[in-house]
Amino acid sequence: MKPFDYVAPTTLDEAVHALAGNPAARVLAGGTDLLAQLKGGRRETPLVVDVKRIPDLLSIRMEEGGLRLGAAVPCIRIATNPDVRAQYPALAEVASLIGGTAIQGRASIGGNLCNAAPSADAVPLLIVLSAVARVAGPGGIREIAVEDFCVAPGKNALGEGEFLVDLFLPKPAAGFKAHYLRFIPRNEMDIAVVGVGVSATVTDGQITTARLALASVAPTPLFVREVTEALVGKAPSAEAIAGAAALAEAAAKPISDMRAPAEYRRHLCGVLSRRALTAVLQ
Ligand SMILES: Cc1cc2nc3c(=O)[nH]c(=O)nc-3n(C[C@H](O)[C@H](O)[C@H](O)COP(=O)(O)OP(=O)(O)OC[C@H]3O[C@@H](n4cnc5c(N)ncnc54)[C@H](O)[C@@H]3O)c2cc1C
Repeated sequence: MKPFDYVAPTTLDEAVHALAGNPAARVLAGGTDLLAQLKGGRRETPLVVDVKRIPDLLSIRMEEGGLRLGAAVPCIRIATNPDVRAQYPALAEVASLIGGTAIQGRASIGGNLCNAAPSADAVPLLIVLSAVARVAGPGGIREIAVEDFCVAPGKNALGEGEFLVDLFLPKPAAGFKAHYLRFIPRNEMDIAVVGVGVSATVTDGQITTARLALASVAPTPLFVREVTEALVGKAPSAEAIAGAAALAEAAAKPISDMRAPAEYRRHLCGVLSRRALTAVLQ
């Protein structure tokens, strides 16, 4: 690993200042991706800006309209937070499937998103929970919908000097459910061959919201908007679910690699989408 400078700001302004004019600086949250990349020589940086001493990035707060989740909160705090478990159970579940106990003590959902891996487990779920990223930088604060955050493998929508402060997840309406399912060859500590996040609201026997997003089948996590159009206004039924799962399968643009051939991934998209939709619609 090449040497780098290290700073640990304690306020948002200090972090903006530290990142200003240094486009190659890297933000450090849990370091479970970044340190492996630096040690393996896949990334180099002259400066690491550790954001774990900034209170805004470490808080889990229920606000009137939803949940504000600090970008650097480690997964173990998310998985065990009583408010998260009660109101966003799927988020608690996804936090508890990233890595194992040691990784969960460090890894953040913000880091999972900013790392912009196509296989990131939390991102499809954040998309179907309609999460919005709040970002700070030299131009002030701005918001980015999570479905627009990852733009290419390992690249996100952050501009020069910007960093993720927190994620806002709207309060779930009555009848809302969300679920994330992944296929991995081992029981844990593996990269998703395919991941599927789904959410839906059923009101008076009719689907009023529906979202589906996929991991590991495109250069970025993939929001399948056609599923929303296909399901909203329908009654939950096996036929509606099968139709939506077929749309997810058709939307996938997988590649073949050492983990799985493209055709197998595409098939899994249909299978997992059907199972995840069944879980939220029945
Ligand atoms: C053994 C092991 C098992 C794993 N298992 C899984 C798994 O099951 N599922 C999965 O999805 N991932 C897994 N991972 C990958 C990793 O743990 C996750 O992606 C994790 O959520 C990254 O969070 P972090 O806080 O450690 O990010 P870091 O490593 O600190 O950062 C990751 C990237 O995001 C940037 N970044 C971090 N925070 C910010 C911010 N606030 N603003 C701007 N940029 C930022 C960093 O500069 C870096 O480029 C695993 C990793 C290991 C080592």
